[in-house]
Amino acid sequence: MTRQTFPKININLEKIAHNVERLKELYGSAGIGIMGVTKTVCGDPIIANMMVEKGIKFLTDSRITNLKKMNRAGVKAQFVLLRSPSLSEIEATVKYADISVNTELEIIKRLSVCAIKHHTVHKIMLMVEMGDLREGIMPGDLLDVVQEVLTFGGIKLAGIGANFACFGGVKPNQDKMDDLSSLTARVEKKCKIRIPIVSGGNSANYNWFTKTDHVRRINNLRLGESIYLGREPLNRTPIKGLFTDAFTLAAEVIESKMKPTAPYGEIGQDAFGGHPRFRDKGNIRRVILGVGNQDVLVKGLTPIQHVEILGSSSDHIILDARKSNLQVGDIVTFQLNYGALLLAMTSPYMMKNYQYYSSKVTEQFQ
Ligand SMILES: *Cc1c(COP(=O)(O)O)cnc(C)c1O
Repeated sequence: MTRQTFPKININLEKIAHNVERLKELYGSAGIGIMGVTKTVCGDPIIANMMVEKGIKFLTDSRITNLKKMNRAGVKAQFVLLRSPSLSEIEATVKYADISVNTELEIIKRLSVCAIKHHTVHKIMLMVEMGDLREGIMPGDLLDVVQEVLTFGGIKLAGIGANFACFGGVKPNQDKMDDLSSLTARVEKKCKIRIPIVSGGNSANYNWFTKTDHVRRINNLRLGESIYLGREPLNRTPIKGLFTDAFTLAAEVIESKMKPTAPYGEIGQDAFGGHPRFRDKGNIRRVILGVGNQDVLVKGLTPIQHVEILGSSSDHIILDARKSNLQVGDIVTFQLNYGALLLAMTSPYMMKNYQYYSSKVTEQFQ
């Protein structure tokens, strides 16, 4: 038998599909539609197709490269660019995104010119700044921006959105959601328009949603983490009824030896500019895995076996394996957090192992 290839990320499509269905049902019960965020999985077309199969109509990614990848793979969905296009991405945005999020009139103006040139209409979702301090138009400026956007040819205002818990860790609570609803209503009234999508946030909106009895105008959320990892990101609590282990990472032992716990010799900086300090706890079994910082956010890994991560470099993870008897060729598996998943799905060195409903397994590099 030929050995499998490592490191690899095991992707249980059945578990992700289950999470998609549950979340769709949950939010759908209050008229909130969900967009499937694909940036978390680097625009993976197999995962994207599964989401479409489960009834997701909008797929959203912050990278045009990923939208292009899904488009070329024949994924049938409305594609939403989740980060404002830059001036150098205007043509590609009009070509590959049905909707893009926007905050700058300068950019929207260029999208308008480009859409007109191609005899098409590009839809935009205006992001409003509501405290988290990443992207967004200041609420007091929104009306002016909308009024100006409505004069642009080739552009259609598809929605208004806000983002939370990304930069400032600000929670999307009832006050914030009420503010977004009121702001939407005010703009609609002044401009005599109806704004179809009011996108209240991301996976961090779960706690708000489970407690609220009035979602008012919020009719959309953009979900990544809760679909893939089954957790809400404010406290990283597992969401009831969802799988938290749809992804696991497996790496192979390439060295296993009894060695000291403290480095010896004159000590300078480590590979990443850190100044490592270790306590001498005698000799232990130290194990090295053939995976490292170039493949995954190592501090976002939790080992499933009884081992402890001592540290890592570009291509190695070093384990305290005193409680196991790991030998060369053995496989160590980990759970991944958001950052680890993001990097593992992006690494070209990571084998992707898709586990299908029928437990049929295929392997492929991205
Ligand atoms: C990444 C991102 C999301 C998805 O966030 P999750 O916490 O993974 O659900 C939603 N909206 C925007 C604007 C994002 O950048």
